[in-house]
Amino acid sequence: MHEKKAMAKRSVKAAVIGAGMSGLIAARELRREGHRVVVFEKGSEVGGTWVYDPRVESDPLGLDPGREVIHSSMYKSLRTNLPRPIMGFLDYPCDAKPGVWDDPRPFPGHEEVLRFLQGFAADSGVVELVRFGHEVVRVEQVAEGRNDEWVVEWRTRDGEASAEAFEAVVVCNGKYTEPRLAEFPGRSTWRGEQIHSHNYRIPEPYKDKIVVIIGNGPSGIDIAKDILHVAKEVHLASRETTKLEILEGLFQHSPIDHAKEDGKIVFQDGSSIYADAIIHCSGYKYHFPFLRMNGIVNVEDNCVAPLYQHVFPPALAPWLSFIAVPYRAIAFVLSELQSRWVAKILSGKILLPSEEEMTSSVHEYYHRIEAAGWPKRHTHRLQLEKFDYENWLAGELGLTPLEKWRQNMYFTSLSLPMTLGENWRDTWDAEKWMKGEAGGEEESDK
Ligand code: FAD
Repeated sequence: MHEKKAMAKRSVKAAVIGAGMSGLIAARELRREGHRVVVFEKGSEVGGTWVYDPRVESDPLGLDPGREVIHSSMYKSLRTNLPRPIMGFLDYPCDAKPGVWDDPRPFPGHEEVLRFLQGFAADSGVVELVRFGHEVVRVEQVAEGRNDEWVVEWRTRDGEASAEAFEAVVVCNGKYTEPRLAEFPGRSTWRGEQIHSHNYRIPEPYKDKIVVIIGNGPSGIDIAKDILHVAKEVHLASRETTKLEILEGLFQHSPIDHAKEDGKIVFQDGSSIYADAIIHCSGYKYHFPFLRMNGIVNVEDNCVAPLYQHVFPPALAPWLSFIAVPYRAIAFVLSELQSRWVAKILSGKILLPSEEEMTSSVHEYYHRIEAAGWPKRHTHRLQLEKFDYENWLAGELGLTPLEKWRQNMYFTSLSLPMTLGENWRDTWDAEKWMKGEAGGEEESDK
């Protein structure tokens, strides 16, 4: 039997940072467990990423640390890349609610997800726990050696600063706001316009232009197709060639080798073009500007370290936790399972291993991903584990593993943009597929 950390308290005063999808579900789970919860939200409404903001940042590459940060990376035309049945919570599915949220499409628009989250916040009562317009600017232990006492300092929009003590802090500030840029020689002197996808909203500015898109993840492919109808040419540069359908005006390349001041872009395969604009769809960095951790938790090469099961820094567990750090997952279900786990650990219903055991588990995990040849920046990518992580959390919570249809639907969705063509979201019959009347199951279950 392992020695487990004993819990001193059953009900704690907890601060949740962020009222996006993760903060909302975390607050609900914490409150269900009898904890006293305050949610700090710097914006003026719930929904986080799903609150479309037409504004863009003053520095479209996000390099200037003094810029006013716009939280959401939504673009106007965005529709979900996962179908509705896996866009809700386990006990609060994203089924259509006539007259409230009822986009009939299997991959709804971003407005629908926001309406769903607003509905969830209201129905669960969590909205009453949220202090809007409160930006957390500092989270720090009150005194060294007192892990269960934290000071949370915030600033309101009119510049008023204040602070309060909490026993637990749950970080839910989102991971898609701080741009990561593609690096290549000549980037800073290239004469064309460059933005990060975080600042992409509408296609019109690219009318008749030759545009290079870096990265073939969901945003890269979606944005390429979004601007294809107005741009002169779109060139997708990526490490792996995507099996994209042939579309007029869309060209695929290897990554950029270098860029010349005169507008020329040379790709690693030796081909080159003159372009007007580059859109970096190269991902994001974890960013916790409010954490004062004295080196106990760090972000190094996009790895939040050390985190036991991607959630708890062993030395500060369970008083500091992070929700939604992993990616390549069914985001809503992942945050829900993690939140339940954190809530039950804080209430003492589930016990954590000792600090030493958690630390060695973290190191074991690092060795495993290193042995698999993964770069450190992919530490929180769940692909290697498939659904092992979610099912491990479910097991901790006494739940059955995630239903097979959810897992199949997730993997199928990832391949749809490559297999179903430009209008893949409208070509796929999710309902038929769920009933097993359409092909693709074998393909998806990998
Ligand atoms: P967020 O939604 O980012 O919420 C974080 C919240 O914290 C925000 O409200 C923010 O204002 C607040 N905050 C941040 N810092 C502070 C602070 N210091 N003080 C107070 N408040 C703070 N997922 C899917 O399941 N399906 C999809 O189709 C899908 N498409 C996506 C498309 C794009 C372009 C992006 C960027 C993401 C997409 N996602 C999708 C993933 C999406 O991020 C998750 O679904 C989910 O919204 C993440 O919620 P979150 O609460 O973890 O973070």
